[in-house]
Formats: sequence, C-alpha cells, structure tokens
Amino acid sequence: TDQGASSPGGRIMVYVRMRPMSRSEKDAGARCCVRVVNKQDVYLAEFASETDYLRLKRLKGRHFVFDAAFPDAAGQEEVYNVSTADIVEGVLQGRNGTVFCYGATGAGKTYTMLGSTQNPGVMVLALKDLFAKLRQQSREGDYVVHLSYLEVYNETVRDLLSPGRPLVLREDSKQGTVAAGLTHYRAYSADEVMALLHQGNQNRTTEPTRANETSSRSHAILQVTVEYKVQRDSHYLRRTGKLSLIDLAGSERALATDQRTIRSLEGANINRSLLALSSCINSLVEGKRHIPFRNSKLTQLLKDSLGGACQTAMIANISPSNLSFGETQNTLHWADRAKQI
Ligand code: ADP
Ligand code: MG
Repeated sequence: TDQGASSPGGRIMVYVRMRPMSRSEKDAGARCCVRVVNKQDVYLAEFASETDYLRLKRLKGRHFVFDAAFPDAAGQEEVYNVSTADIVEGVLQGRNGTVFCYGATGAGKTYTMLGSTQNPGVMVLALKDLFAKLRQQSREGDYVVHLSYLEVYNETVRDLLSPGRPLVLREDSKQGTVAAGLTHYRAYSADEVMALLHQGNQNRTTEPTRANETSSRSHAILQVTVEYKVQRDSHYLRRTGKLSLIDLAGSERALATDQRTIRSLEGANINRSLLALSSCINSLVEGKRHIPFRNSKLTQLLKDSLGGACQTAMIANISPSNLSFGETQNTLHWADRAKQI
C-alpha cells in the first residue's frame, strides 16, 4: 500500500486509530462496536449485536475508508512509520509539517502523541528519527534542533516547559506569529527530551471538576525547529524545517457550547479553536485566498504550519466501546470530511 505518501501542499492524510478496550470499559460490560480491517476500512456498528463486519458491510453509511486505519493491536512504531515518518523526511528537506490527534477525551490522543516511557509515541519517535537522520546526513555541529511545547487553554497560551504567566502572541515580520517569551529548548537527543515532554504534559491545565483526569480542554503543541547546513560540492545550503505535533483538546466539547456558565464559556473557546482549525483547513484545500487564521490562538500559532508547502496528517483516535458510540461516530464523520478536502 502507498501509506504515508502525502504530497507537499496536497490534501491532508487522514488516519484512524482504535485503542484497545480498557479495563473500566470491560468492567462496565462494554461491547466492541468498531471493526478495523484491511489496514484502511472502519466499520461502525450502531448496536452491540452487530459485531459481524460482513453483516456491517451491507449497512449503508457506516463504512469508512481512510488513508490508513490502525486496529487496537497496532503499535506505536507502526503508527509513527505510516503517519509521520514521511513528514519528518520533509522537514529535513526544509518543509514544514504538521500532525494532529483528534478525538474525544479518553480516545487515545495523548497515548498516540506522547505515549509512555515503555511505549513512546509520535513526538518521541519523531525526534528519534530526526536525530538519526541528521547524524547520517550532516556533521555534528552542522545542525541545531530547538523545541517548544505550549498549550492553548481557554484561548490562553502557556509555556509547558516553563509554566508561568500566559504568553502574548506577536506578529514578527521574519518568524510569523510568535509567543513572546516562549522557551526554545535546544535538544541534543531524543532520549533527553522524553522526560521533558512528560513533565510538560503534567503541566497541562486540568479541569477543576476532574482533578484526577488529564486535561481535556487543552490543546498541546510541540514545535520542533531544525536548522542545518548540507554540503553541496564546495558550498553549503542552509535549510530550516518545522515540525508541529499537536494533541488537540477533546472533540466532545465542540458540541456543547450553549450553556451560559463560565464552564461553557471555556467550552466555547475550545470550540473556537477546533472550529477555527477546521475552517482554516477547509479554506486551504478549497484554494481560498483568505484563510481565517486569526480566529483563534491555535490557528494563529499554526499559520506557517498549515497549507502552502506544508505536509499535514490527522490521526483520529477512537474507542472500540459501544458506550462511546456517539463520540466515535462524530470523530469518524469529522475525519471522513477532512479526507474529502
Ligand atoms: P486522550 O488523550 O484522548 O484523552 P489517552 O491517550 O489519555 O486519551 O488514553 C486514555 C487511556 O487509554 C490511557 O490510560 C491510555 O494509556 C490508554 N490508551 C490509549 N490508547 C492506547 C493504545 N493504543 N494502547 C494501549 N493503551 C492505550
Ligand atoms: Mg489527552
């Protein structure tokens, strides 16, 4: 299969990853309502009894095809290789690349992006790959890798590597939108940054009412900037590429926005960033001249990482459980739309 082959400025590559059934879902008597087959087909059963995918095949509107679909048994390396390895290659050729994880809270976004120490996710594997390739291609000292890790929560930008006051976004004529005062950490190896990223993730804002849960309304953005020199005959070429890896806020909040409470205001703001993101992506692929990047902090920050010569991939995370049917259906429909643009 031609998995992972996204062209520069082309359409977005859309992937779906189903996580394994969790202990608590099993304990709650959950049944599997999703089948992932042939590395790209996803079948969604509305009723717990419809678990036979041959039967599902005949049910209209519940079959989805993506650039790749990962079953629960898919490992982190496989997800990285299919979804992100080519984008990292592009970054080494001086292009910008972006990978998003989209889906409901608990669907596996942070596992996919960050992962655990034993099973590092896309962020860590991308850095590993990047350093390995840089060492192959250039001499020590000919490349510099910086990383920044921030969150957008309630339309407020915070530095996850050095938590403190909210950061102000400024337009810089050379660098585009910059978060003033953001830490740009110089990285020397992937192993070294693992702990840093986990610490950063701990710094994400958690909801007061769900204190023991990880943040579900915060978007986390890791940006890795690579500057390097490559020798061509007698002269050097300078290249800069930027990789943005984004663990989006839970998409379930995008639906509940009408309550006139502070909590729903927060919800509305998350909605704003998610909606702004989809509308930018839509406008880009439709070839519109005006792209509404200014509508949210998230899209302001990603202005130079979407469209143009950028490569973009989206990983939609879903739970297999029938207890999450509605969220899974929403996620698959959104991903399906993204695929068509
Ligand atoms: P989200 O970030 O979308 O809210 P998480 O990544 O935190 O969801 O995943 C919820 C739970 O499921 C976590 O305990 C996580 O370790 C587990 N999990 C998610 N995806 C996988 C996977 N592919 N394999 C094993 N465990 C997973
Ligand atoms: Mg998460």
